[in-house]
Amino acid sequence: MALKKPLWKFCEPNRSYDAVVIGGGLHGMAAAYYLARDFGMTNVAVLDRRRMGYGGSSRNTEVIRANQRAPEILPLYVQSIRLWNELSAEVEWNFMVWMKGLIGLAHNAAGVNSMRMRHATQTNLGIENHILSPEELKKLIPALDTSRSAAIPIAGGYYHPPGGTVHHDAAVWGLMKGLHRHGVHLCPGVDVRSISIKNGRVNGVEAKVGGNKITISAPLIHMALGGWSSEVAAMAGITLPVVTLPLQAMVTECVKPFLNHVVVSELYFCYCQQSIKGDLIMGAHLDPWQSYRSYNTYEFAAEQAYFMLQLFPDLAHLKLMRSWSGLCDMTVDGAPIMGALPIEGLFIDAGWGYFGFKASPACGKNMAELIATGRTPEKITFLGMERFYEGRMVPEVYIARS
Ligand SMILES: Cc1cc2nc3c(=O)[nH]c(=O)nc-3n(C[C@H](O)[C@H](O)[C@H](O)COP(=O)(O)OP(=O)(O)OC[C@H]3O[C@@H](n4cnc5c(N)ncnc54)[C@H](O)[C@@H]3O)c2cc1C
Repeated sequence: MALKKPLWKFCEPNRSYDAVVIGGGLHGMAAAYYLARDFGMTNVAVLDRRRMGYGGSSRNTEVIRANQRAPEILPLYVQSIRLWNELSAEVEWNFMVWMKGLIGLAHNAAGVNSMRMRHATQTNLGIENHILSPEELKKLIPALDTSRSAAIPIAGGYYHPPGGTVHHDAAVWGLMKGLHRHGVHLCPGVDVRSISIKNGRVNGVEAKVGGNKITISAPLIHMALGGWSSEVAAMAGITLPVVTLPLQAMVTECVKPFLNHVVVSELYFCYCQQSIKGDLIMGAHLDPWQSYRSYNTYEFAAEQAYFMLQLFPDLAHLKLMRSWSGLCDMTVDGAPIMGALPIEGLFIDAGWGYFGFKASPACGKNMAELIATGRTPEKITFLGMERFYEGRMVPEVYIARS
């Protein structure tokens, strides 16, 4: 019997690389992938203190879309939706990209007006988005309670066809496969403890591997650390305008297909989508306190179940199977931080809060270009950390829920 070649391999890091990526989530791995693919930089290691995809990358609820509020950031999301499909084909791994369309619900006149504003912005940028009446919503989602007697009234909604889902584990595994093919080192179990800086530029990291302390030298260091961004940036003496907040999610037992779209209620902070398997994956808004702890609360599950049952009364018999949580790095304007930092050779992609999964491929691609060429791609010029000191906020806050 012929033995199959491994799809990927893990290794202990070498003592020197051309570039090191700290954080083996999708953002870090995507940056390493495009460094190799687009710029031939393969003497690169991705370091993660746990395992590849340990953070938000394998805890998210898999929603992708390009309908955020701030118009300047929308082209990045549009690029990402295209790249999800491309990447899946390129690494020959099924990411289960399912552009089933995203439906947002408005529950009062103010909600409908706000949707109209976003609809106008997106239409101007050529992003498909339609405003729907309650009757049109009922046709698309027969299980939705649009009756006048509903406890949560539905005044209208929008339909965003490019939105949908990507299987998060498949994406993690697919990128690992792609990185292995390019010869990039995947190094789990490498806990970065300090970043060394000499004469104003980075020259490597110190890390713990098992019980041993090792030094890895590299002239280029990229930090893609999700909820741990502030902790690691502080190792380089940088205080990020970011707080880390927990976010919970849950999933029901599997049922026959009844929901062909992602459904989001921004007013009630809840959303759901039925996976290919048949379970209903549900999410909410961030917990309102800072914490580095992953936990689940009864209050979250009870509140989500209540809202879901108002929207879909027929689900009353469904069993809740599991809940989980992860850490989200939130900036004060709700938009991410991407760019070069004031220390030469040091880069960051952080502040993606509860909406960074969908942007992973585009973040990787743009960050790779910046790291390899030193030039900031147009799509991310306005996302540098200096915007907080120069008063140039990107008004994204409290609009994205998935
Ligand atoms: C419950 C939940 C639901 C979500 N749903 C969605 C959604 O539907 N759609 C969406 O777009 N986004 C969603 N998100 C947000 C999304 O998951 C994140 O924005 C995204 O995954 C961040 O990816 P990342 O690669 O930047 O970070 P992560 O995936 O968090 O990776 C960071 C990595 O850094 C490693 N690390 C930390 N410290 C160190 C160190 N000192 N040394 C080495 N490695 C270190 C960690 O082990 C981790 O693997 C959700 C998040 C959660 C928690």
